[in-house]
Amino acid sequence: ELQFAENLSRLGTESAFTVLAKAGKMAAEGRDIINLGIGQPDFRTPEHIVEAGIKALRDGHHGYTPANGLPELREAVAADLHRRHGVEVNPDHVVAVPGGKPTMFFAVLMFGEPGAEIMYPNPGFPIYESVIRYSGATPVPIELKEENGFAFSAEAVLGQITPKTRLIIINSPANPTGGVTQKEEIDKLVAGLADHPQVAVMSDEIYSNMLYGGREHVSLLQYPEIRDRLIMLDGWSKTYAMTGWRLGYAVWPEAAVDHVTRLCINDHSCVNAATQFAGIAALNGPQDAVREMVAEFDERRQVIVEALNGLPGVRCADAAGAFYAFPNIEGTGMTSREAQDRILEEAGVAAIAGTSFGKFGEGYLRFSYANSTENIREAIRRIGELL
Ligand code: PLP
Repeated sequence: ELQFAENLSRLGTESAFTVLAKAGKMAAEGRDIINLGIGQPDFRTPEHIVEAGIKALRDGHHGYTPANGLPELREAVAADLHRRHGVEVNPDHVVAVPGGKPTMFFAVLMFGEPGAEIMYPNPGFPIYESVIRYSGATPVPIELKEENGFAFSAEAVLGQITPKTRLIIINSPANPTGGVTQKEEIDKLVAGLADHPQVAVMSDEIYSNMLYGGREHVSLLQYPEIRDRLIMLDGWSKTYAMTGWRLGYAVWPEAAVDHVTRLCINDHSCVNAATQFAGIAALNGPQDAVREMVAEFDERRQVIVEALNGLPGVRCADAAGAFYAFPNIEGTGMTSREAQDRILEEAGVAAIAGTSFGKFGEGYLRFSYANSTENIREAIRRIGELL
């Protein structure tokens, strides 16, 4: 028998991929499935970005690049952050990695070990808790509540800090809830952190381009007082519909740059070169496609929130950002998992149980509205019939 390492048993997964596989299998068997399960834009990558990737291949960019990313890419990131958040970022503090996920893995490996505590949003992106457990650190959930619009409370976060706390993970706009945390709450968090200078913060801002109803993104980069312990994660997957290209980055504190670069060298050497050229074109080129996509998401968001609120036993908060609706389904009498399974099997609609995002997700379902308005309406109609 193979002797696998003990910590492997603590590594979790992302159920969206399991549901995606099951929905795919059902579709292959001839079932008509509407997929509101997976969190990826249903748009193509804008053409000028695709062309830049192809051109890079034709031009012979076939070798390794620097482990932290091409200088032009890191400069394009710094310029983009200046444009969008009005902040100065040293391109040498930017490290490009294959997607959003490697940054969270590396950040947690950098701070997590037995005896350490790491805070993370719950319900939240499931990979946070998974990699915290894998590292041996103790995961400390930050409970996100419907009555607060699923924003975190600075008081609740600060109140859970102990001498063992090494890292706090926050995420706004948030997966799976669509929640957006207001500036006053972030101000309070940053102010409170002054008393805990040893605590690092990873702010997952991968949905920073997707806020609705006139809301504006607040980046943790806008707080110079925590720059020396902030990891700000963002990437191309969601903004430019580039999930399959695998490109993301973080701005790291100066003290962590060498550590993360070594992790990159040990893990993947560098992001594939053509993808980096596509990433440069995305940031430096026209942003019309981003604006159009966000406008389209906003329309769908209004459609899905209204339709969900029309279902018996279902209550859906106004989703402020990202592309997820996170309705409360307690009134249907089903658990999250029962609802996920029955909706897929009986209505042919893929959605994800709230508990896939942590224990505080019980009573909720996550719907991704990265699908056509027509499909969204049909999906909710079918769920209505089931209910
Ligand atoms: N962070 C959050 C909050 C996400 O929802 C996702 C993807 O679903 C990611 C990071 C990871 O993105 P990527 O596909 O670029 O690894």
